[in-house]
Amino acid sequence: DYCYGGYHPVQVGDVFNKRYKVLSKLGWGYFSTVWLCIDLRSGRHVAVKVLKSGAGFTQAGQDELTLLRCASGPTARNPLKDRIVQLLDEFKIAGVNGIHICLVLELLGPDLRCWQVCFGNPGLSLTCVKHVITQVLEGLAYLHSHCKIIHTDIKPENILLCVTPQSSSHPPGDATQTYSTAIKTTLLQDPEAPRNLDNITVKIADLGSSCWVYKHFCQEIQTRQYRSLEVLLGSEYGPPADIWSVACLAFELVTGDSLFEPKAGPNFSLEEGDLRRIAVLRPWGLYEVLVEKYHLLLREASVFSDFLLQMLDFLPERRATAAQCLKHPWLKL
Ligand code: ATP
Ligand code: MG
Ligand code: MG
Repeated sequence: DYCYGGYHPVQVGDVFNKRYKVLSKLGWGYFSTVWLCIDLRSGRHVAVKVLKSGAGFTQAGQDELTLLRCASGPTARNPLKDRIVQLLDEFKIAGVNGIHICLVLELLGPDLRCWQVCFGNPGLSLTCVKHVITQVLEGLAYLHSHCKIIHTDIKPENILLCVTPQSSSHPPGDATQTYSTAIKTTLLQDPEAPRNLDNITVKIADLGSSCWVYKHFCQEIQTRQYRSLEVLLGSEYGPPADIWSVACLAFELVTGDSLFEPKAGPNFSLEEGDLRRIAVLRPWGLYEVLVEKYHLLLREASVFSDFLLQMLDFLPERRATAAQCLKHPWLKL
Protein backbone atom coordinates (compact mmCIF):
# COMPACT_ATOMS: atom_id res chain seq x y z
CA ASP A 1 0.00 0.00 0.00
CA TYR A 2 3.06 2.27 0.35
CA CYS A 3 3.27 2.80 -3.41
CA TYR A 4 2.27 5.50 -5.88
CA GLY A 5 -1.37 6.38 -5.18
CA GLY A 6 -1.18 4.71 -1.75
CA TYR A 7 -0.14 5.69 1.77
CA HIS A 8 2.38 8.45 2.42
CA PRO A 9 5.49 7.12 4.23
CA VAL A 10 5.72 8.91 7.59
CA GLN A 11 8.50 8.84 10.22
CA VAL A 12 8.24 9.83 13.86
CA GLY A 13 9.73 13.34 14.04
CA ASP A 14 8.42 14.46 10.63
CA VAL A 15 6.76 17.88 10.64
CA PHE A 16 3.64 18.27 8.46
CA ASN A 17 2.85 21.67 7.00
CA LYS A 18 5.59 23.27 9.21
CA ARG A 19 3.23 22.85 12.15
CA TYR A 20 2.33 19.27 13.17
CA LYS A 21 5.19 17.17 14.54
CA VAL A 22 4.65 13.39 14.42
CA LEU A 23 4.93 11.62 17.80
CA SER A 24 3.51 8.17 17.03
CA LYS A 25 1.02 6.19 14.95
CA LEU A 26 -2.60 6.13 16.14
CA GLY A 27 -4.09 3.72 13.66
CA TRP A 28 -4.80 3.11 10.02
CA GLY A 29 -7.61 2.08 7.75
CA TYR A 30 -8.28 1.31 4.12
CA PHE A 31 -8.07 4.99 3.17
CA SER A 32 -5.42 6.43 5.44
CA THR A 33 -2.84 6.32 8.20
CA VAL A 34 -3.54 8.38 11.34
CA TRP A 35 -0.79 10.02 13.41
CA LEU A 36 -0.52 11.51 16.88
CA CYS A 37 1.07 14.93 16.40
CA ILE A 38 1.85 17.93 18.50
CA ASP A 39 0.67 21.24 17.08
CA LEU A 40 3.83 23.35 17.34
CA ARG A 41 1.73 26.51 17.27
CA SER A 42 -0.66 25.72 20.15
CA GLY A 43 1.21 22.94 21.97
CA ARG A 44 -1.95 20.85 21.68
CA HIS A 45 -2.01 17.14 20.72
CA VAL A 46 -3.99 16.36 17.57
CA ALA A 47 -4.67 13.43 15.24
CA VAL A 48 -3.60 13.90 11.61
CA LYS A 49 -5.29 11.61 9.09
CA VAL A 50 -3.15 11.32 5.95
CA LEU A 51 -5.20 9.95 3.08
CA LYS A 52 -3.93 7.79 0.24
CA SER A 53 -3.11 9.80 -2.86
CA GLY A 54 -4.84 7.90 -5.71
CA ALA A 55 -7.56 9.71 -7.66
CA GLY A 56 -10.40 7.74 -6.03
CA PHE A 57 -8.97 8.37 -2.55
CA THR A 58 -8.56 12.09 -3.25
CA GLN A 59 -12.21 12.33 -4.31
CA ALA A 60 -13.27 10.37 -1.20
CA GLY A 61 -11.05 12.70 0.87
CA GLN A 62 -12.68 15.81 -0.61
CA ASP A 63 -16.10 14.40 0.21
CA GLU A 64 -14.99 13.51 3.77
CA LEU A 65 -13.67 17.07 4.19
CA THR A 66 -16.90 18.67 2.97
CA LEU A 67 -18.97 16.49 5.29
CA LEU A 68 -16.68 17.13 8.27
CA ARG A 69 -16.67 20.88 7.63
CA CYS A 70 -20.45 20.78 7.74
CA ALA A 71 -20.52 18.75 10.97
CA SER A 72 -17.85 20.71 12.85
CA GLY A 73 -16.29 24.13 12.99
CA PRO A 74 -17.36 27.47 14.43
CA THR A 75 -20.32 27.81 12.08
CA ALA A 76 -21.99 24.80 13.69
CA ARG A 77 -23.39 26.16 16.95
CA ASN A 78 -25.49 23.17 17.91
CA PRO A 79 -24.05 21.72 21.18
CA LEU A 80 -24.64 18.21 19.83
CA LYS A 81 -21.84 18.79 17.32
CA ASP A 82 -19.54 17.68 20.17
CA ARG A 83 -20.79 14.13 19.63
CA ILE A 84 -18.93 14.11 16.29
CA VAL A 85 -15.14 14.19 15.91
CA GLN A 86 -14.17 17.79 15.17
CA LEU A 87 -12.12 18.92 12.17
CA LEU A 88 -9.50 21.46 13.31
CA ASP A 89 -7.49 22.13 10.15
CA GLU A 90 -6.74 20.70 6.71
CA PHE A 91 -3.80 20.78 4.31
CA LYS A 92 -2.18 18.80 1.49
CA ILE A 93 1.26 17.25 1.29
CA ALA A 94 3.21 16.36 -1.83
CA GLY A 95 5.16 13.16 -1.16
CA VAL A 96 6.92 10.40 -3.07
CA ASN A 97 3.56 8.65 -3.63
CA GLY A 98 1.63 11.72 -4.81
CA ILE A 99 -0.53 14.46 -3.29
CA HIS A 100 -2.26 13.54 -0.04
CA ILE A 101 -5.19 15.29 1.60
CA CYS A 102 -4.60 15.60 5.37
CA LEU A 103 -7.28 16.16 7.99
CA VAL A 104 -6.32 17.53 11.40
CA LEU A 105 -8.78 16.09 13.91
CA GLU A 106 -9.23 16.51 17.63
CA LEU A 107 -7.37 13.74 19.44
CA LEU A 108 -9.58 10.95 20.75
CA GLY A 109 -8.87 7.66 22.51
CA PRO A 110 -9.21 4.05 21.39
CA ASP A 111 -12.34 2.81 19.66
CA LEU A 112 -15.07 0.71 21.26
CA ARG A 113 -13.74 -2.48 19.63
CA CYS A 114 -10.35 -2.03 21.39
CA TRP A 115 -12.24 -1.43 24.59
CA GLN A 116 -14.14 -4.73 24.25
CA VAL A 117 -10.86 -6.52 23.64
CA CYS A 118 -9.38 -4.73 26.65
CA PHE A 119 -12.07 -5.54 29.22
CA GLY A 120 -13.27 -8.86 27.85
CA ASN A 121 -16.59 -9.62 26.27
CA PRO A 122 -19.09 -7.95 26.73
CA GLY A 123 -17.08 -6.12 29.40
CA LEU A 124 -19.19 -2.98 29.69
CA SER A 125 -21.72 -2.38 32.42
CA LEU A 126 -25.30 -1.81 31.30
CA THR A 127 -25.12 1.75 32.64
CA CYS A 128 -22.07 2.37 30.51
CA VAL A 129 -23.67 0.91 27.37
CA LYS A 130 -26.71 3.16 27.90
CA HIS A 131 -24.44 6.22 28.13
CA VAL A 132 -22.61 5.20 24.97
CA ILE A 133 -25.81 4.52 23.00
CA THR A 134 -27.37 7.81 24.19
CA GLN A 135 -24.36 9.74 22.91
CA VAL A 136 -24.30 7.87 19.59
CA LEU A 137 -28.01 8.66 19.12
CA GLU A 138 -27.41 12.32 20.00
CA GLY A 139 -24.65 12.44 17.39
CA LEU A 140 -26.94 10.86 14.82
CA ALA A 141 -29.87 13.16 15.66
CA TYR A 142 -27.48 16.05 14.93
CA LEU A 143 -26.07 14.51 11.73
CA HIS A 144 -29.48 13.48 10.36
CA SER A 145 -31.57 16.54 11.22
CA HIS A 146 -29.12 19.42 11.38
CA CYS A 147 -26.47 18.39 8.83
CA LYS A 148 -28.59 16.15 6.57
CA ILE A 149 -25.80 13.58 6.68
CA ILE A 150 -26.11 9.77 6.81
CA HIS A 151 -23.05 8.31 8.57
CA THR A 152 -23.42 4.89 6.84
CA ASP A 153 -20.80 3.08 8.94
CA ILE A 154 -21.92 2.96 12.57
CA LYS A 155 -19.98 0.14 14.28
CA PRO A 156 -17.73 -0.22 17.36
CA GLU A 157 -14.57 0.64 15.37
CA ASN A 158 -15.95 4.07 14.50
CA ILE A 159 -17.05 5.08 18.00
CA LEU A 160 -14.04 6.58 19.78
CA LEU A 161 -13.58 7.19 23.50
CA CYS A 162 -12.66 10.60 24.84
CA VAL A 163 -9.95 9.71 27.35
CA THR A 164 -6.39 10.81 27.87
CA PRO A 165 -3.69 8.74 29.55
CA GLN A 166 -3.14 9.75 33.19
CA SER A 167 -0.02 7.75 33.94
CA SER A 168 3.21 9.67 33.45
CA SER A 169 5.03 6.41 32.70
CA HIS A 170 3.10 6.21 29.43
CA PRO A 171 3.17 9.68 27.96
CA PRO A 172 1.50 9.96 24.56
CA GLY A 173 4.86 10.87 23.07
CA ASP A 174 6.42 7.49 23.91
CA ALA A 175 7.32 6.28 20.45
CA THR A 176 7.78 2.67 21.58
CA GLN A 177 4.05 2.12 21.86
CA THR A 178 1.04 3.56 20.17
CA TYR A 179 -1.11 6.10 21.91
CA SER A 180 -4.03 3.64 22.07
CA THR A 181 -1.79 1.06 23.73
CA ALA A 182 -0.70 3.70 26.25
CA ILE A 183 -4.30 4.52 27.09
CA LYS A 184 -5.26 0.86 27.32
CA THR A 185 -2.32 0.19 29.63
CA THR A 186 -3.37 3.11 31.82
CA LEU A 187 -6.98 1.90 31.96
CA LEU A 188 -5.97 -1.68 32.74
CA GLN A 189 -3.64 -0.59 35.56
CA ASP A 190 -6.49 1.30 37.20
CA PRO A 191 -8.63 -1.19 39.17
CA GLU A 192 -11.40 1.41 39.29
CA ALA A 193 -11.41 1.85 35.51
CA PRO A 194 -14.47 -0.24 34.61
CA ARG A 195 -16.49 1.66 37.22
CA ASN A 196 -15.09 5.06 36.27
CA LEU A 197 -15.96 4.30 32.67
CA ASP A 198 -19.67 4.53 33.53
CA ASN A 199 -19.42 8.25 32.86
CA ILE A 200 -17.32 7.99 29.75
CA THR A 201 -17.74 10.27 26.77
CA VAL A 202 -17.65 8.91 23.22
CA LYS A 203 -17.75 10.50 19.78
CA ILE A 204 -18.74 9.31 16.34
CA ALA A 205 -15.69 9.24 14.04
CA ASP A 206 -14.81 8.33 10.45
CA LEU A 207 -17.12 10.26 8.15
CA GLY A 208 -15.07 8.74 5.33
CA SER A 209 -18.00 6.81 3.86
CA SER A 210 -20.76 9.23 4.87
CA CYS A 211 -23.08 10.89 2.39
CA TRP A 212 -25.82 13.50 2.19
CA VAL A 213 -29.44 12.56 2.71
CA TYR A 214 -30.11 13.93 -0.79
CA LYS A 215 -26.83 12.92 -2.46
CA HIS A 216 -25.47 9.41 -2.11
CA PHE A 217 -22.00 8.35 -3.26
CA CYS A 218 -22.49 4.61 -3.19
CA GLN A 219 -25.38 2.14 -3.27
CA GLU A 220 -23.88 -0.55 -1.05
CA ILE A 221 -23.16 1.13 2.28
CA GLN A 222 -22.43 -0.18 5.79
CA THR A 223 -20.28 -2.98 7.18
CA ARG A 224 -22.01 -6.33 6.69
CA GLN A 225 -23.00 -7.14 10.29
CA TYR A 226 -24.53 -3.67 10.66
CA ARG A 227 -26.13 -3.46 7.20
CA SER A 228 -29.81 -2.56 7.15
CA LEU A 229 -32.46 -4.58 5.39
CA GLU A 230 -33.14 -1.96 2.70
CA VAL A 231 -29.43 -1.82 1.80
CA LEU A 232 -29.21 -5.63 1.68
CA LEU A 233 -32.15 -5.62 -0.70
CA GLY A 234 -30.67 -2.82 -2.82
CA SER A 235 -33.60 -0.44 -2.28
CA GLU A 236 -33.61 3.25 -1.31
CA TYR A 237 -31.92 4.15 1.94
CA GLY A 238 -31.79 7.20 4.20
CA PRO A 239 -31.03 8.11 7.84
CA PRO A 240 -33.02 5.07 9.12
CA ALA A 241 -30.16 2.86 7.82
CA ASP A 242 -27.94 4.30 10.60
CA ILE A 243 -30.63 3.54 13.19
CA TRP A 244 -30.60 -0.14 12.17
CA SER A 245 -26.83 -0.18 12.79
CA VAL A 246 -27.32 1.39 16.25
CA ALA A 247 -29.63 -1.50 17.18
CA CYS A 248 -26.90 -3.96 16.10
CA LEU A 249 -24.33 -1.95 18.09
CA ALA A 250 -26.50 -1.84 21.24
CA PHE A 251 -27.20 -5.59 21.11
CA GLU A 252 -23.49 -6.30 20.66
CA LEU A 253 -22.38 -4.03 23.51
CA VAL A 254 -24.91 -5.61 25.88
CA THR A 255 -24.43 -9.28 24.93
CA GLY A 256 -20.93 -9.42 23.43
CA ASP A 257 -22.33 -11.18 20.34
CA SER A 258 -23.25 -9.84 16.91
CA LEU A 259 -26.98 -9.49 16.33
CA PHE A 260 -26.58 -10.66 12.74
CA GLU A 261 -23.70 -12.86 11.65
CA PRO A 262 -23.77 -12.91 7.86
CA LYS A 263 -21.70 -15.73 6.41
CA ALA A 264 -19.87 -15.52 3.12
CA GLY A 265 -21.47 -17.88 0.63
CA PRO A 266 -22.07 -18.26 -3.09
CA ASN A 267 -23.74 -15.20 -4.55
CA PHE A 268 -27.42 -15.82 -4.94
CA SER A 269 -30.41 -13.77 -5.87
CA LEU A 270 -33.77 -14.28 -4.27
CA GLU A 271 -36.56 -15.47 -6.50
CA GLU A 272 -40.10 -14.82 -5.43
CA GLY A 273 -41.13 -17.42 -2.88
CA ASP A 274 -37.59 -18.53 -1.96
CA LEU A 275 -37.91 -17.40 1.64
CA ARG A 276 -41.11 -19.42 1.99
CA ARG A 277 -39.21 -22.61 1.24
CA ILE A 278 -36.55 -22.36 3.99
CA ALA A 279 -37.11 -25.69 5.71
CA VAL A 280 -35.06 -25.21 8.85
CA LEU A 281 -36.18 -21.76 9.98
CA ARG A 282 -36.64 -21.80 13.76
CA PRO A 283 -37.84 -18.42 14.96
CA TRP A 284 -36.51 -17.38 18.39
CA GLY A 285 -37.91 -14.03 19.57
CA LEU A 286 -35.56 -11.28 20.70
CA TYR A 287 -37.06 -11.13 24.21
CA GLU A 288 -36.65 -14.90 24.67
CA VAL A 289 -33.07 -14.74 23.38
CA LEU A 290 -32.23 -11.98 25.87
CA VAL A 291 -33.71 -13.96 28.77
CA GLU A 292 -32.78 -17.54 27.84
CA LYS A 293 -29.38 -17.06 26.25
CA TYR A 294 -28.10 -13.86 27.91
CA HIS A 295 -29.94 -14.12 31.25
CA LEU A 296 -31.15 -10.52 31.32
CA LEU A 297 -33.64 -9.72 34.07
CA LEU A 298 -37.19 -9.99 32.73
CA ARG A 299 -37.97 -6.26 32.99
CA GLU A 300 -34.62 -5.29 31.44
CA ALA A 301 -35.11 -7.81 28.60
CA SER A 302 -38.61 -6.58 27.91
CA VAL A 303 -37.71 -2.88 27.74
CA PHE A 304 -34.47 -3.57 25.83
CA SER A 305 -36.17 -5.74 23.20
CA ASP A 306 -38.81 -3.03 22.76
CA PHE A 307 -36.01 -0.45 22.31
CA LEU A 308 -34.28 -2.61 19.70
CA LEU A 309 -37.38 -3.65 17.77
CA GLN A 310 -38.45 -0.03 17.09
CA MET A 311 -35.03 0.40 15.44
CA LEU A 312 -35.25 -2.83 13.44
CA ASP A 313 -38.59 -2.19 11.75
CA PHE A 314 -38.37 -3.67 8.25
CA LEU A 315 -39.89 -0.50 6.81
CA PRO A 316 -37.33 2.34 7.11
CA GLU A 317 -40.09 4.97 7.25
CA ARG A 318 -41.65 3.23 10.26
CA ARG A 319 -38.33 2.85 12.10
CA ALA A 320 -37.85 5.17 15.10
CA THR A 321 -35.75 8.29 14.42
CA ALA A 322 -32.71 9.10 16.57
CA ALA A 323 -34.74 11.77 18.41
CA GLN A 324 -37.53 9.27 19.12
CA CYS A 325 -35.06 6.61 20.31
CA LEU A 326 -33.59 9.12 22.76
CA LYS A 327 -36.96 9.27 24.53
CA HIS A 328 -37.15 5.50 25.04
CA PRO A 329 -37.40 4.31 28.67
CA TRP A 330 -34.58 1.73 28.23
CA LEU A 331 -32.02 4.56 28.20
CA LYS A 332 -33.33 5.76 31.57
CA LEU A 333 -33.94 2.33 33.17
P1 ATP B 1 -11.65 2.73 7.38
O1 ATP B 1 -10.95 1.59 6.72
O2 ATP B 1 -12.28 2.35 8.68
O3 ATP B 1 -12.57 3.53 6.50
P2 ATP B 1 -10.02 5.14 7.45
O4 ATP B 1 -8.80 5.04 6.60
O5 ATP B 1 -11.16 5.97 6.96
O6 ATP B 1 -10.47 3.71 7.86
P3 ATP B 1 -10.30 6.03 10.20
O7 ATP B 1 -11.25 4.95 10.52
O8 ATP B 1 -10.82 7.44 10.21
O9 ATP B 1 -9.51 5.74 8.84
O10 ATP B 1 -9.05 5.99 11.21
C1 ATP B 1 -8.26 4.82 11.32
C2 ATP B 1 -7.93 4.56 12.79
O11 ATP B 1 -7.15 5.66 13.29
C3 ATP B 1 -9.14 4.49 13.71
O12 ATP B 1 -9.66 3.18 13.80
C4 ATP B 1 -8.55 4.95 15.04
O13 ATP B 1 -7.86 3.87 15.68
C5 ATP B 1 -7.51 5.97 14.63
N1 ATP B 1 -8.08 7.33 14.68
C6 ATP B 1 -8.81 7.96 13.71
N2 ATP B 1 -9.18 9.19 14.07
C7 ATP B 1 -8.68 9.37 15.31
C8 ATP B 1 -8.72 10.47 16.28
N3 ATP B 1 -9.36 11.61 16.00
N4 ATP B 1 -8.09 10.28 17.47
C9 ATP B 1 -7.46 9.11 17.74
N5 ATP B 1 -7.39 8.06 16.91
C10 ATP B 1 -7.99 8.18 15.70
MG1 MG C 1 -12.84 3.58 10.28
MG1 MG D 1 -13.17 5.47 6.71
